[in-house]
Amino acid sequence: MSTAHPTDSADTNLNRPIRHVLSDESITDILTVIREATSTSQLLEDTIRALYRAILAGNPAAASSAIRPDNYALPATQWQAIISAAIGRAEQWGTQAVVVLDLAMNLMPRRYDDPTVPEPHMPLPDYRPAVRTIEWASDAIDVVTAVSAHLDQLRAVYGPASLQFLDAADSWQRALTAIITMNLGATATVSKDGPMSLLVRTGSGLIYAATFHADVRRCTVAGCGAHLRDDGTIPASHADHPVPEHQHIASYPLDGPRPGTWSLHS
Ligand SMILES: [Zn+2]
Ligand SMILES: [Zn+2]
Repeated sequence: MSTAHPTDSADTNLNRPIRHVLSDESITDILTVIREATSTSQLLEDTIRALYRAILAGNPAAASSAIRPDNYALPATQWQAIISAAIGRAEQWGTQAVVVLDLAMNLMPRRYDDPTVPEPHMPLPDYRPAVRTIEWASDAIDVVTAVSAHLDQLRAVYGPASLQFLDAADSWQRALTAIITMNLGATATVSKDGPMSLLVRTGSGLIYAATFHADVRRCTVAGCGAHLRDDGTIPASHADHPVPEHQHIASYPLDGPRPGTWSLHS
C-alpha cells in the first residue's frame, strides 16, 4: 500500500476500530443479562448495554463521545459466542431472525481474528418451547388441498420423473418443512396468501410467505421469447417484436397445470 498520500494514513487511523478483549467477568455479566431477559427488546437492550459498558470501561477516553459500533472490534470468538447466546435465548420467542438482524448487523461492534482468544463458555438452557402450536386457518387447508391436486396434475401431465413435477414437489416440500421446523415461537398462524400460497404469522408478529411462482410461459421460437398469456396472446409491448410474424410455440401448454416453484420469503 502506498504511503505517499498524507490522507491515506489519516483515513486508516480514523477507520481502525479500537480492539477490545472482554474479560471473563464481562462475559459472565453479558451472559447473565442474556439469560435474564424476558423479551426480545430487553434481550437486545441489555446485551448491548452490558457489552458497551465493558468496552468503555476498558477505554475511558472513548466514553465521552456517542457510541458508534464501528469504532470498536471484538475478537471473533467472543463476538460469535455473544451472538450465539442471544440467538439461543431468542428461541423462546421465535425471534432469532430479529436478533441476528439487529444485533449482528447493526448494534454489535466489528470483529477481528485473534486465534489467541479462546471461545468463551456461555452455557444456556434449551429455550425452545416444549410444545409449539401452529394454527391452520381453513383457507390455508384449502391451499394445501389445491397444491396437492396441482402436483398430482403436474405428475400426470409431465410424468413423475419430469423436472416440472420434481421441481414443484421438491420446493413445496421444502416450504412445508420450513413452516414446521422453523422455530416461530410458541404460536404461529398459517393463512391463505393466494390460490397456492401461504402466509405464516408468528406470535411475535413476524411474517413469512410460502409463495408459488409460476414459471414464465415463453415462446420458444428462436429470437422471439415473448411472454405468452394464459389466453395465448402476447402483451402489447411485444407487438413490434423484430421476429417475423409466426405461430408462437409455448414453453408449456396454455391449458393444464402451470409448472412453477414455491419459495419462502420473510
Ligand atoms: Zn413467438
Ligand atoms: Zn419470490
